[in-house]
Amino acid sequence: MKNLNKITNELYEQELFFIPTMGSLHEGHFSLIKKAKKSGLKTIVSIFVNPKQFNDSNDYEQYPRSLDKDSASLQKLNVDYLFTPHESYIYGDNFKEIISSGVIGEQFEGLSRPGHFDGVLTVVNRLFEIVKPKKAIFGKKDAQQLFLVKDYIGRSNNNIEILEGEIIRDKHGLALSSRNSLLSNEGRVIARDLKKQLDTVKQMYLKTGYIEVSIEQTLEDYKNTRLKIDYLQILDKDTFGVVDGSTKKLIIIIAGYIEGIRLIDNIDFRIEG
Ligand code: AMP
Repeated sequence: MKNLNKITNELYEQELFFIPTMGSLHEGHFSLIKKAKKSGLKTIVSIFVNPKQFNDSNDYEQYPRSLDKDSASLQKLNVDYLFTPHESYIYGDNFKEIISSGVIGEQFEGLSRPGHFDGVLTVVNRLFEIVKPKKAIFGKKDAQQLFLVKDYIGRSNNNIEILEGEIIRDKHGLALSSRNSLLSNEGRVIARDLKKQLDTVKQMYLKTGYIEVSIEQTLEDYKNTRLKIDYLQILDKDTFGVVDGSTKKLIIIIAGYIEGIRLIDNIDFRIEG
């Protein structure tokens, strides 16, 4: 594996499969890398904790970082390039534009983290400009991010192919996240309620057909948990908007705080008819 903190022209002589990350890597990231490796293209993983997507400087500072361990894991996975740019390389003289994530970017995660998705699209756009990959992969764990990246790439002149990776969970259903390492053992047990609430809403919705009732009943059932819910919502997966008569694919999204740490999760499914 070659370590790079700048990209030079010789890299562009090959077709690249890009896996952007913020590091503190786990099996969720590794699954994306394994999928990328199957393409036969050269793989490039970036580790860059992007300050523009944090609206809270404490959150940015406490975000877990473990570069040496990450580098050893990537080496084992036979990744071709590890790209660890300095902030000044990303947002220096050649940095031109903030990308707006529009109305959808202001909802759900964007409502609680103003500017978050503008920061995400801005760094993704900038990394794509620098790395010039043929393909890139994002995890379904960050559903709103995946939706907005695909939407942005669809609207731009970029013909980068965007692939999706399934959510990797531990044996208790907790979606792997770099932020899980910030929780106590007890906090990690409480965090299992995220997936349990998603499953409960789904079952109730399939039984009753009523969105609001299913959400309210689930919130009531779990009101004594130490997970503080920010939002729990059923959406049309294709529009990230309200479910209507034409909806075929649904997504249930959830966000909450445990011990002051924000965690998100989601499940998706199809409906007949
Ligand atoms: P991050 O380092 O949190 O910015 O994540 C980098 C990429 O890994 C994003 O595309 C995430 O959606 C993806 N990812 C993070 N956690 C998981 C997970 N548990 N399963 C699948 N993909 C994930």
